[in-house]
Amino acid sequence: MIDSRIFEITAELAKAENIVIVPHKGPDGDAIGASLGLLHYFKNKGHKAKVIAPNDYPHFLKWLPGNEEVINYEQSKTEAEKLISEAEIIFTLDFNDLSRAGDMQEVLKTSKAVFVMIDHHQEPSDYAEFTYSDATMSSTCEMVYEFLHKLRADKEITPEIATCLYTGIMTDTGSFRFSSTSSDTHRAVAELIDRGAKNFEIHSRVFDTNSENKLQLLGTALQNLKVNKKFKTAYISLSQEELQRHNFKKGDTEGFVNYGLSLEGIIFAVIFIEKENEDLVKISFRSKGDFDVNQFARKHFEGGGHINAAGGKSNLSLNDTIVKFNRILPEYKEELMK
Ligand code: 5GP
Ligand code: MN
Repeated sequence: MIDSRIFEITAELAKAENIVIVPHKGPDGDAIGASLGLLHYFKNKGHKAKVIAPNDYPHFLKWLPGNEEVINYEQSKTEAEKLISEAEIIFTLDFNDLSRAGDMQEVLKTSKAVFVMIDHHQEPSDYAEFTYSDATMSSTCEMVYEFLHKLRADKEITPEIATCLYTGIMTDTGSFRFSSTSSDTHRAVAELIDRGAKNFEIHSRVFDTNSENKLQLLGTALQNLKVNKKFKTAYISLSQEELQRHNFKKGDTEGFVNYGLSLEGIIFAVIFIEKENEDLVKISFRSKGDFDVNQFARKHFEGGGHINAAGGKSNLSLNDTIVKFNRILPEYKEELMK
C-alpha cells in the first residue's frame, strides 16, 4: 500500500499543520524510537508535531534526542486531548489496534484526523486511512526508515533521526540477532550509521545503564526459573513482593524472558509478572523457530504480537495463571516436541 498511496500521504502532509504521533501503551525502544524519529522529521519540515505516549516508558530510553518533548497522556490528559482534537494527521506507531493505546483509545476514536498506521505486527485492524503494515519487517523503526525513503527524504535524515531509528531497530531485533533481521535491516542500519547514529554509544546507553537493583531482580528471576524439558519450555515468574524488594522501576524486567530461550534445547520461554496495582499478571512470550506465540497469546491470554515475540495478560492470581499455563501446554505437545 505504501507505494501506491505515498502521493496521497504526501498531499495530506502538505496540508497538515498539526501532527500527533502515538506509540503503543508501555512503549518500548521501537515505539519511542519510531515516534521521536518521525517527530524530528516533521518538526524539521515546519509542522507542529507532538508525541503523545499513553503512559511512561523505561529510563534506558530517556536519553533519546527529543525525549523531553514526549507528552505522557496519564500525566497531561487535558493538554493531550487538546492536541488530539487539533491534529489533522495522527500517526499510530508500532501497534495495529486502537486498544493498544490503553485509555487513550477513546479520545483517538473521537478524532477527525487522518490516521496513518505504521506497524509490523500481524492482523492489523482497519481504523487507519493509510495502513502501512508489514509483519516481515524487523521493527517499526525499519518501516519508518523505509517510509522516509518512499517520501524521498533520505537526505533529510539527521543524526537525531538516525539515532532514534537505530535504537528501535536495535532493541526490537535483540541487537540484530532475531530471525526478523534481514539483509535490508542491516542495509538500513548501515545507512543510519552513515547519517550520524553512533552505534557503539547507542548500545552502551541502552544496555550498560543497569542499576544494582535491576541486576539483583534478575538474580531473583533466574532463581525462579522453571524448565520443562519435555515440552522444550522454560518460564520465570516475579511476584509483586519480589519486585518491591528490589525497588522495581519501569523497564527493569526488560529482556528477562530471553534468558529462558538461551537454554539449550528450549524453544518456548515465558515470564509472568504480577502487577498488583493493575490487578493482573502481565505475560511475555518468546519462541524460536515456528512455534507461534502470537496465536498462543491471542487464544489463551488476551494478547498478541509476532510469531516469536508476543505479550498478553491474565486476571487470575500469579499462581493460578501459572497453573492455567501448565494445563494448556500439553495441547501444544506436537508443535513443542517435534
Ligand atoms: P513484550 O513481551 O516485550 O511486552 O511484547 C512482545 C511483543 O508483543 C511486542 O511486539 C508487543 O507489542 C506485543 N504485545 C505485548 N503485549 C501485548 C498485548 O497485551 N496485546 C497485544 N496485541 N500485543 C502485545
Ligand atoms: Mn516493534
